[in-house]
Amino acid sequence: QWAYLNGQFQPLHETKISVLDRGFLFGDGVYEVVPVYNQQVFEWPAHYARLERSLALTHIPNPLDQQAWLALLNELIQRHPWPHQFIYLQITRGVQTPRDHLPAAELIPTLLAYTNPLAPIDKRKVSQGIAAITHADLRWQHCDIKAITLLANVMAKQAAQAAEAQDALLVRPDGRVTEGSASNMFLIKDGTIHTPPLNEFILPGITRLVVEKLCRQHHIEFIERDIDQAELSTADELWLASSTKEIIPIVRLNHQPVGSGQAGRLWSQMFDLYQAYKNR
Ligand code: PLP
Repeated sequence: QWAYLNGQFQPLHETKISVLDRGFLFGDGVYEVVPVYNQQVFEWPAHYARLERSLALTHIPNPLDQQAWLALLNELIQRHPWPHQFIYLQITRGVQTPRDHLPAAELIPTLLAYTNPLAPIDKRKVSQGIAAITHADLRWQHCDIKAITLLANVMAKQAAQAAEAQDALLVRPDGRVTEGSASNMFLIKDGTIHTPPLNEFILPGITRLVVEKLCRQHHIEFIERDIDQAELSTADELWLASSTKEIIPIVRLNHQPVGSGQAGRLWSQMFDLYQAYKNR
């Protein structure tokens, strides 16, 4: 297994960075997770646009242009035998000493990329769904940046595990549901898909974007609006969506069944549309 670090491919398990890297010391960096199907990068323009935006908002210089990024990803993919993969890319602000919150001028960003095998998705298995809990959204007010600082997300996932659930729906103090711990959320009611609007409390998910596109193409009603925590118990279906998990039904929330307690009809339709889109 190979990693790319600052211009060089090297064995992943021998790849090391300095303890003075600001990513390590401050969590000062951004990342992307890009799925690969049949050795082809999925939705690269959208992932790249989000990466550029994360870099711009944090004022971290982009170390490569779009073509150089794609060439690097393609070489990384081809060095591995797996048809389906997910690539992790991380750019931190770079190595700095002495320690200072304020970034020094003209740091050289640290660029790390490596890839992992992605197991093929089995509809029967996914249709069993997951259990989730609601949990306070303890994150900051720039969740639209794909920042490497993920402590609040990790703690929400731990809380889910402690409650014998697999994930958490995050809720802001005003009752608004934002997203899952590492996914966007959808509420289905009377054949319509509802999802929170993009703002500073939500990561603009690429899977969410594809779901929206598929809804428009197939005349499924898709509404972006705030969702209050109290509505969750009235939902016909609840889904989470992310690049590595695709679209998964939540069948139990806070120990109560969601809708019929089984994966819903619209989930099944969207799952099939998503597979067809991936394989197009
Ligand atoms: N929201 C959060 C907090 C995430 O961490 C992720 C992905 O990891 C998503 C949403 C979904 O984004 P994408 O569909 O681009 O994977």
